[in-house]
Amino acid sequence: MKKNKILAGVMIGTILAGLFGLTACGEPPHTHTYTTHYVVKTVDSQEKAYTYTKCDCGTETELTLIENAVVADPVTAQTVLDGEVNNKVVVLKEGTYGQLQLRPSKTTSTFFKHNYLGGTSPDLQVGDSVTLDYVLEHPDVPYHYFRKFENVKIVGEDGVTFTDSIMLNSTHVYGSTHTYGFVKYDQVREILNPTTNNSHYPHISVENLSFENLNFSGKQALINLYFAIADSSADGITIKNCNFTTEEANTIAAMCFRGEFNVYNNIVVEDCEVDGHFQGVLTYNAKNVTVKNNKIANTSHNAIAIQSHSAATCFVSGKIVIEDNSISNVIGSYIEGGNYAIDGQRAMRIGKCTDVEIVVKNNNISNCYEQWIVTGALTGTVSYNFENNYYKGTKMDGKSASSEDADFVQGSTVILYTPEKQAN
Ligand SMILES: [Zn+2]
Repeated sequence: MKKNKILAGVMIGTILAGLFGLTACGEPPHTHTYTTHYVVKTVDSQEKAYTYTKCDCGTETELTLIENAVVADPVTAQTVLDGEVNNKVVVLKEGTYGQLQLRPSKTTSTFFKHNYLGGTSPDLQVGDSVTLDYVLEHPDVPYHYFRKFENVKIVGEDGVTFTDSIMLNSTHVYGSTHTYGFVKYDQVREILNPTTNNSHYPHISVENLSFENLNFSGKQALINLYFAIADSSADGITIKNCNFTTEEANTIAAMCFRGEFNVYNNIVVEDCEVDGHFQGVLTYNAKNVTVKNNKIANTSHNAIAIQSHSAATCFVSGKIVIEDNSISNVIGSYIEGGNYAIDGQRAMRIGKCTDVEIVVKNNNISNCYEQWIVTGALTGTVSYNFENNYYKGTKMDGKSASSEDADFVQGSTVILYTPEKQAN
């Protein structure tokens, strides 16, 4: 009886400590900050994936089985991604990965003849739907391949490291030159695409795709998404708790959302770390972007760039939130010989906007040699609010306005400088 009472007391104490985040052995109490982790275990000679959360103090929660998991390793990962992954969690086992592509494939795509009448398909009209067999029997014809990624999570066990990028390239693929290291391979016909006659157009649509707990180490190790053909879309892309480190100068962002159209909606970048790289986060023509609680250091250009595009209709729009980020050493572009050009590098760069609400708050910045924030022309229904941002520990002037204010000038830009606009 007495023993049970003591046990119950200990248990209640443990539960209370857990609830209030108290740690044992006289450690000062703190509120646990949990991040999500993943682990693969072999149970009854079958690999199963689990998720749990962990605080830096070592406190972990129990494992929860991921029912819809697909386990992959460096050898099998590309094959897994070329198969059906919709509504699944792809769990990458600890290891070193090269380049992975999100691309069309034989088993996941539909096929259409390109509106090009050359080649050996005289019996078909422009744009006709064709079968996989037809594609394989007529290899010297360009095709459109359609693929949709829907509700896909790509996550890593602790210790997953990429030496090359995760790429999605929805653009006309041909030729032997590689843009940003993109391997121009046609997974459907299993050929390289040396000429336009056997080229292909991967039309890729995304609805809820996320990347979590992955490390990227090296000059070309990035998450790199590019949408440049019509009938593509990208709605709901999240990058969370990923690290990007390089010691070699490059000309690309660690997290790169490029596009020639207004393709992106709902981008979230959260709890990530960038060290080195040209830029930290780069988005093009996006509607609704949140960049929250990231650490970005030693970029040679803008740390966070929410850009528009030169095309007249490619604006930033929706709600843009940049908060709780730490940005240090926006060091400028590298000049041969070891110096850096300090002009034109910003902590935050926002492009031309229309019908936008911009919220920038609680960011800490140090060593940014140019403006700490610049926007392009603001048109349509606009509001912006910059508050509680710090430069080297000094609170920056706040600024807010909306297109309903009397003094708001349509088409104007916002430029806020550092207190000391100079190299230091
Ligand atoms: Zn803790």
